[in-house]
Amino acid sequence: MTEPTIYELSSIGRVGVLFPEPDVPLAEFPRDLLREDLPLPELAEVDVARHFTNLSTKNYSIDKGFYPLGSCTMKYNPKINEEMARLPGFAMTHPLQPADTVQGNLALMYQMQEFLKEISGFAGMSLEPSAGAQGEFTGVSIIRAYHQSRGDIKRKKILIPDSAHGTNPATSSMNGFEVVGVPSDARGNVDLEQLRKVCDDTVAGLMLTNPNTLGLFDENVVEVIKIVHQAGGLVYGDGANLNALLGIVRPGDLGFDIMHINLHKTFSTPHGGGGPGSGPVGVTRALVDFLPTPVVAITEPATEELPPLYGFVRPAHSIGRVKAFWGQFGMIVRAFTYIRMHGPDGLRKVSEYAVLNANYLMHILKDTYTLPYDRTCMHEFVIQGSWADAPGVRALDIAKRLMDYDFHPPTNYFPLIVHEALMIEPTETESKQTLDSFVDAMLKIAQEAHTNPELLHDAPHNTPVGRLDEVKAAKDLVLCCWIPESEDKLL
Ligand SMILES: *Cc1c(COP(=O)(O)O)cnc(C)c1O
Repeated sequence: MTEPTIYELSSIGRVGVLFPEPDVPLAEFPRDLLREDLPLPELAEVDVARHFTNLSTKNYSIDKGFYPLGSCTMKYNPKINEEMARLPGFAMTHPLQPADTVQGNLALMYQMQEFLKEISGFAGMSLEPSAGAQGEFTGVSIIRAYHQSRGDIKRKKILIPDSAHGTNPATSSMNGFEVVGVPSDARGNVDLEQLRKVCDDTVAGLMLTNPNTLGLFDENVVEVIKIVHQAGGLVYGDGANLNALLGIVRPGDLGFDIMHINLHKTFSTPHGGGGPGSGPVGVTRALVDFLPTPVVAITEPATEELPPLYGFVRPAHSIGRVKAFWGQFGMIVRAFTYIRMHGPDGLRKVSEYAVLNANYLMHILKDTYTLPYDRTCMHEFVIQGSWADAPGVRALDIAKRLMDYDFHPPTNYFPLIVHEALMIEPTETESKQTLDSFVDAMLKIAQEAHTNPELLHDAPHNTPVGRLDEVKAAKDLVLCCWIPESEDKLL
């Protein structure tokens, strides 16, 4: 990095802060708390403002450009969401305030539960989990609690198709279950024959990501669910990405028993270093009593004169708490705003355009890049980042080279069932012009891979940090920015 650090910019005696005259008696500062050797930089406010503004533009973000990171649904986060979350009535409330002083917040949470139930087709909803993975953990805990409540304790296995998201097997084994893989068939669906073979009375459930990580909607999803139900298992739907389904199909109607929904993907709340997640969990009527505590409910119905009173209640057989307080409230406000801004028809359009954008890219790119499963895709698709006649070029090289063209790379090496996978999710918020310039870059890179592969191997060339040594980065972790050897230099 050639950029001077804030320490190098320091100039002795320069100040950026003027303290007001103290209006309390002065006292001696305890000397033993002072460190003489702290090299605090001395700068004017303008130097600090410029330094941090420059730093803020070194990272890539959705506000800077196209971010086709498959499975992560990096859609644009509308600024109105931020305005709403910052309203003092939402932002300045304390989680321990008595319920009767935060009725507006509770009303919003209650309505959000109702919206998500309506969108997903489930009978009950908890807003508590603070990420998709935590929603999964909650859901699988509910599967366990359900079987235990019936005295059915021999069910120790969770089935996971090989096209599932990586968090699914992790969730199951964190929950103490044995993970049993189920292969995909040639069309990228769950292989029904193989599924039947592993379904018996030791199966607690199946975790299904649908659309799966190939971006494909399982054509036999109803049959898959039926087979698991017939064996006495429950079916968990990974609904992190509802972006292809809004207003088109409801997982609850398909027969799923439990599902988490990532507000920080489909419902546009910032993520990826930009904000905490939120992974509400929906369940069927048979499972509502197992939801985490508490859920928001109407504790006193409206009368002619008074609005309803909202409060927290504990479901009868609750698995307990999964998070302190009441979920990521600020994220719930943002997602609520997003849902209200779009309305039912708008949400359906979101999904229609997300699917259209993904298919548009897929159809152009498949002439140049290998498309292992050539079917209409949903919100994303997976191509291969390698060619037989361009030996040595890998998906990683393509991903890195995209940065030189000012695009965030797609997800790579995932899903594992595709060799040199590049998983591309454009989302609905991108224009045709943006998609076309991404296509241009992808086609140029394919050409470079054949004519000048070194350009790809050394990429990125234009970013603040070049190609990193990934092995060194993993083996020789530097987790603090202070390098004692170099005395007065910070990274
Ligand atoms: C993102 C994602 C998850 C995990 O969600 P987090 O909020 O990152 O924990 C799970 N499943 C799928 C399909 C996802 O895309």
